[in-house]
Amino acid sequence: MPELPEVETVRRVLKTWLIGKRIIKCFPIYPNIIASMTPEEFALRIEGQEIKDIGRKGKYLLIYLENDVIISHLRMEGKYHLGYFGLRKENDEANHYFAPNVIDKKNKHVHLVFLLDDNRVLMYDDVRKFGRMNLVKKEELFLVPPLNKLGIEANSDDYSASYLFERLQKLKVTIKQALLNQELISGLGNIYVDEVLFLSKIKPTKEANKISLKKCQVILDNAKIVLNKAIELGGSTIRSYHFANGVDGKFQNELYVYGRANQECKFCGSKINKIKVGGRGTHYCPSCQK
Ligand SMILES: [Zn+2]
Repeated sequence: MPELPEVETVRRVLKTWLIGKRIIKCFPIYPNIIASMTPEEFALRIEGQEIKDIGRKGKYLLIYLENDVIISHLRMEGKYHLGYFGLRKENDEANHYFAPNVIDKKNKHVHLVFLLDDNRVLMYDDVRKFGRMNLVKKEELFLVPPLNKLGIEANSDDYSASYLFERLQKLKVTIKQALLNQELISGLGNIYVDEVLFLSKIKPTKEANKISLKKCQVILDNAKIVLNKAIELGGSTIRSYHFANGVDGKFQNELYVYGRANQECKFCGSKINKIKVGGRGTHYCPSCQK
C-alpha cells in the first residue's frame, strides 16, 4: 500500500512525464474510479486542459490543470503507466487504448486513460479497484472533500508539539490509532507509524492522552526523520516504477519493526512482537518501547 513516501516518488515521476502536456481525451473505463461526479462529466471537464503541475498532500496526488485539480488516491494498488497511443486489437470495439511497452495481459486492469497531445497515453491501473479520483475547482481544493479535513503533514515544520499534545489530550484511543488518523496528522500509514513509535520508544498500545508534551516533540522529530529518509530512498529507485510491481523503494531494508515479527530488535536483541491494534497489524519491541 503506497504511503506518503511512495506517493511522493510517484509525484516526482509524473512531474517528469506530464508537465506542459494537454489532455486531449479521457476514457473512464471503470466508472467507479471517479468519485462525486459521473465519468462523462469528469472527462468533459478535463478534456482540453493543460497539465500545469503535480503536487501532493498527504497520500493524495494532485494533478493541477488550468482550471481544475484531479485528486488521485492510489489506496492499495493504484499506479500509473505512460505509454503510446494504439488500439489493443484490430477488431476491439472497446476503448482499450494501450502502450506496446506495457505487458498486454495487464491491460485488463487499466481503468482510466488520458490521451495527451504528444500522442502518448497516461494509464491508471488498479488491480484492486480501491483507488479514487476527484475533480475539484482549483480555488476550492482545500475547501471541499476529500482534502478539507486533512491534517497537517507529519513531516511539516508547521506541525507543533503543543498542537499534537492538545489534540491527543481529547482522545480515548491508543497512540497508534491516533497517529493513523489523517485528520489529526496526515501522511503516516501503518508502516511508518510503527517505525516512528519504535524510534520514539513508545508502546503502540499506550493511551494517546498519556503521551507527554516532550514525547510529542520526539514523535514529530522521528516522523520527520522516517518520512524524509523513506522519500529519499523511494526516490532512488524511480526507474523501477515502470514495472508491474510499481513503486519499489529501498526503505524496506531500513525498517526496525514493521514486517519483522519474531526477528531480533536491531537495538536490544529482543524478539519483535506483532499484535493487532484497532484492527491493524502492529509491530513493536517489548523491551525498547514502554
Ligand atoms: Zn529493542
